[in-house]
Amino acid sequence: MMRTEWDVIVIGGGSAGLSAALMLGRARRKVLVLDAGAPRNRFAAHMHGSLGHDGRPPLELLAVGRSEVEAHGGVIWNTAAVTTRREDRGFAVETADTRIIQARTVLVATGANDELPNIDGLAQRWGNGVAACPYCDGYEVRDRRIGIVATGPDSVFQAQLLRQWSDQIIYLPHTTDAPTGEERAAFDARGIRIENGQITRVLSGSQQLSGVELDDGRTIELDAIFTAPRLIPQDAALRQLEVERTDHPWGSFATVDPSGKTSLDGVWAAGNVVNAMANIPVSIGTAALAAGAINHALVLDDIRVALSNNPVAEA
Ligand SMILES: Cc1cc2nc3c(=O)[nH]c(=O)nc-3n(C[C@H](O)[C@H](O)[C@H](O)COP(=O)(O)OP(=O)(O)OC[C@H]3O[C@@H](n4cnc5c(N)ncnc54)[C@H](O)[C@@H]3O)c2cc1C
Repeated sequence: MMRTEWDVIVIGGGSAGLSAALMLGRARRKVLVLDAGAPRNRFAAHMHGSLGHDGRPPLELLAVGRSEVEAHGGVIWNTAAVTTRREDRGFAVETADTRIIQARTVLVATGANDELPNIDGLAQRWGNGVAACPYCDGYEVRDRRIGIVATGPDSVFQAQLLRQWSDQIIYLPHTTDAPTGEERAAFDARGIRIENGQITRVLSGSQQLSGVELDDGRTIELDAIFTAPRLIPQDAALRQLEVERTDHPWGSFATVDPSGKTSLDGVWAAGNVVNAMANIPVSIGTAALAAGAINHALVLDDIRVALSNNPVAEA
């Protein structure tokens, strides 16, 4: 690894990136965070299911995280990494504001984007009436009228899952096929209603979602919608570094070992960029693990460098 200004460049300053940067700063590593400033949950006013932070505004958590990183010597630049490449020994990153920086190791924590169903009025309610994760937002709409906007075969189980939170589940096949056979029987057994028809728009009152309109003119009154967007990892840096990938039923993601290490020495990744299931606590935890592994690798490199500078005298 080359001797450069930074031990670690963390690309992405969401919960994963900041968690790793805090650990690395506390390990007295020179750590630089590059952050484009668009965390996945920026549409939500409150976050849930994260111990010690339940109900907290997500951007407040990141603001506190940033100050904790900076208090331990970490540096944060509000800019995006545009290109990331391997050099003879280490890595070079070019930023959107045209700086080129070098580091011994890289942690990619750039998150993912949600590709929502293309329905008039739905994106406007994303994070405020329209949600994906029942563990994040189900409790707040318990016992209310919940519509499931189907996006594929997995939506059938999403409806059964939400049934845990309410007995007023309305399944909206929209452009998919309505469940039949055993799936239909299980819906009937648990009182899940099906309303066939293509959704033409999501309806909202002045403050909150009020239902959907179907192409036959009917209106279905709802208090909340759950759907399953396609998750698109923001993994340009990992693609540029040509790390190995794995095809999952939910998409193609860079492959990492349990410590977050990719197939390329010196490159780790954590959070939604490599794990579609990661929520905030998982992103924080896996990134902390990756930070420990990065520091471990840097210590081994420090030993190698120290030995090459001070060869052991022969007895
Ligand atoms: C509407 C909504 C509500 C949610 N509610 C909850 C909840 O209540 N509880 C919960 O646990 N989880 C919730 N989640 C999930 C949560 O948002 C994610 O699990 C979490 O944000 C993942 O953290 P991350 O650090 O991997 O990615 P992110 O938080 O998305 O952070 C990635 C960061 O990297 C930056 N970035 C991207 N590309 C680059 C680049 N090239 N250079 C520099 N920076 C870059 C982004 O701008 C962003 O700031 C919710 C998600 C959504 C969509």
